[in-house]
Amino acid sequence: MRILKAVKEMQLYARKLKHEAKSIALVPTMGALHEGHLSLLRKARIDGDVLIISIYVNPTQFGPGEDYRRYPRDFDRDIKLATKAGVDIIFAPEDGEVYPDGFKTSVRVAELEERLCGASRRGHFQGVCTVVAKLFNIIRPDYAYFGQKDAQQAQIIKKMVADLNMGVGIVVLPTVRDKDGLALSSRNSYLNPTERQAGLVLYKSLQLARELICAGERQAETIKQQMQDLIRVEELAQLEYVSVCEPDNMTELAAIQPDTLIALAVRIGKTRLIDNLLLGEL
Ligand code: AMP
Repeated sequence: MRILKAVKEMQLYARKLKHEAKSIALVPTMGALHEGHLSLLRKARIDGDVLIISIYVNPTQFGPGEDYRRYPRDFDRDIKLATKAGVDIIFAPEDGEVYPDGFKTSVRVAELEERLCGASRRGHFQGVCTVVAKLFNIIRPDYAYFGQKDAQQAQIIKKMVADLNMGVGIVVLPTVRDKDGLALSSRNSYLNPTERQAGLVLYKSLQLARELICAGERQAETIKQQMQDLIRVEELAQLEYVSVCEPDNMTELAAIQPDTLIALAVRIGKTRLIDNLLLGEL
């Protein structure tokens, strides 16, 4: 296992791999690795000749007042977990490497970036797209792996890759949860035990939606209303949005269809959590 910190070094290495006709599987992360990240690494390990993880807390995807500074970082632990998962290369660039002085370019996926999480996190997906486009250009992976937990992010990346003919196979893998249903997230470490308990309301509301749909409910408004009512009962929870939408373009649906995404964002104290349910997973 090698750790590369310089863009040039990573580019040269990736070029050498291409020359040797080795396929590259890339898992982009912001570190603080958990079982969700490891599930992506396991699949990527099977698919690619060479497994690369990028670990980079990307400043441009955090808005003013968001948690960039206190975002959890534990590089030593990440190295151990990545090694155990069979990673060949950790690409962990410094800020100056990714955004050198005078950096001017950004990548945006119009409309999609404004919906759901984009409405409250202005510029977030622009930051994500720009850094992922850079990672793809530096590493030239054959496949890249993303989690369904960040459904909108995965969809936006797919669109960017298609629109810009990037030629990277995007693989989206299911959300990994704790035993009680809480979706794993690096941000869960912000939660105290009471908040963690309150955070279960996201999963519970998705379970409620699932039950309603299984019982025959098809009206999106009714499902959203019931989810909101359940979330309102949880004192620590502040609902940001609940959406019943079309999973490709994230536009709101009036009625449930076989391929429907139910997504929500909720603040528990100062911590913003997201989760979703993709029908078809039912
Ligand atoms: P992050 O480090 O939070 O930027 O996440 C890196 C990748 O891991 C993204 O593609 C996420 O969607 C994915 N990921 C994060 N949490 C989970 C989870 N609980 N289950 C599956 N994938 C996840």
